[in-house]
Amino acid sequence: MRAQPKASHFIDGEYVEDTDGTVIESIYPATGEVIARLHAATPAIVERAIASAKRAQPEWAAMSPTARGRILKRAADIMRERNRELSELETLDTGKPIQETIVADPTSGADSFEFFGGVAAAGLNGSYIPLGGDFAYTKRVPLGVCVGIGAWNYPQQIACWKGAPALVAGNAMVFKPSENTPLGALKIAEVLIEAGLPKGLYNVIQGDRETGPLLINHPDVAKVSLTGSVPTGRKVAASAAGNLKHVTMELGGKSPLIVFDDADIDSAIGGAMLGNFYSTGQVCSNGTRVFVNRKIKSEFLKRLKTRTEAMRIGDPMDEATQIGPMVSWAQREKVLAYIEKGKAEGATLVAGGGIPNNVSGEGYYIQPTVFADVTDDMTIAREEIFGPVMCVLDFDDEAEVIARANATEFGLSGGVFTADLTRGHRVVDQLEAGTLWINTYNLCPVEIPFGGSKQSGFGRENSLAALEHYSELKTVYVGMGPVQAPY
Ligand code: NAD
Repeated sequence: MRAQPKASHFIDGEYVEDTDGTVIESIYPATGEVIARLHAATPAIVERAIASAKRAQPEWAAMSPTARGRILKRAADIMRERNRELSELETLDTGKPIQETIVADPTSGADSFEFFGGVAAAGLNGSYIPLGGDFAYTKRVPLGVCVGIGAWNYPQQIACWKGAPALVAGNAMVFKPSENTPLGALKIAEVLIEAGLPKGLYNVIQGDRETGPLLINHPDVAKVSLTGSVPTGRKVAASAAGNLKHVTMELGGKSPLIVFDDADIDSAIGGAMLGNFYSTGQVCSNGTRVFVNRKIKSEFLKRLKTRTEAMRIGDPMDEATQIGPMVSWAQREKVLAYIEKGKAEGATLVAGGGIPNNVSGEGYYIQPTVFADVTDDMTIAREEIFGPVMCVLDFDDEAEVIARANATEFGLSGGVFTADLTRGHRVVDQLEAGTLWINTYNLCPVEIPFGGSKQSGFGRENSLAALEHYSELKTVYVGMGPVQAPY
């Protein structure tokens, strides 16, 4: 199987190679096969990408938002036309089942281009401030060259979620995908050029943790938007703060999903499974601490076990497959170690717990796993695992579960299943997180803001709120009479 791109980087409207960069092997997680060899960006490539973005940005910013938006909407159409091809590439890049990528990856990227393309004309307006004769007005101005750094779980979506608002606000972007998933973002750059985006405005360069700092510390970069783990977020935010750059941090989580005894139990189980096993559990907002009221615990676990054990694990290119491999060997090792810790610390294994035996030995597969009787102090209840491992914890009353749900450094998301409307709102109101769901889980359409609080980050992606993070206000005071100077 081959997925070799024309070259490693996409700069100034074309593919560019520099073989002096360290080799990055793109591995298909289902088989362990090397499907492409790319090179990390050298300092010369970083310079070239930023210089091209800097050159292109002023003319782009001078266009009307409507004209910029039109190009993004064209890109959305192209992505939808190529959904199958892009989804297959996403599956090769990540190992996620085609059943998912075909509905969730290029399509959500296209939604982002369509939404920001559509709101461009109205979303970037300023205001008029009457001052009794004098007046002032504000305008939203772009930041300049923005850097996007991506994680490996949603490579195409992340490339679009950062690119669309940045571009429509009049910025240029240099995007660095995760070294684990280098392929998808290059295609997004190609699509944008085909849609009519002037060259230089969306450049993609490859690299790892050595390359990121070259981008962040570059004097011509105005903003950094990172999707990644909390430790990386701390480093990136600290470097950006040194030069007072704008930052958006989309980081990790250990989110609570609370199931009250009056909840529709099958919906709650469906929400918990989607919120733990979709993308083989590699979703930042997953509700990995499932608090279940003790009164419904045994019924909940019984049905959850049956449904979990019926999930189809296997070849991600088979449309019937529901669980693919983990993204990498290292990630599977990490998750397996957490599973062993769960067993050792006394949690009850309800389903899964190891490597499935129906799949290729070379793939990075892992069984969807459920632990019950998990307590707040266990490692699996405190640390982000980023794999298909659900922890079920018992609770008895509302105040207790809210306090326990909030007892974490993370604050990305959370959810509540209950038939009691007022309780649903009351509980989410007290949960310390950026994105919350009532009677559903993990739905993130482009219309709603997404992002975290506490150690899960700051800034918001999607919705009109994202435009505020890719622009700044300029205020103009207009004097209408003579200046009254006292001297
Ligand atoms: P990671 O933090 O290891 O890497 C993320 C990106 O940062 C990669 O592109 C990597 O090359 C780069 N990087 C690493 N060190 C860097 C440094 N010092 N300076 C600059 N760049 C650096 O994360 P990952 O393993 O790729 O992704 C999984 C993590 O991402 C999980 O914690 C998950 O929760 C989080 N995530 C968050 C969201 C969100 O929207 N909140 C979405 C997806 C994933």
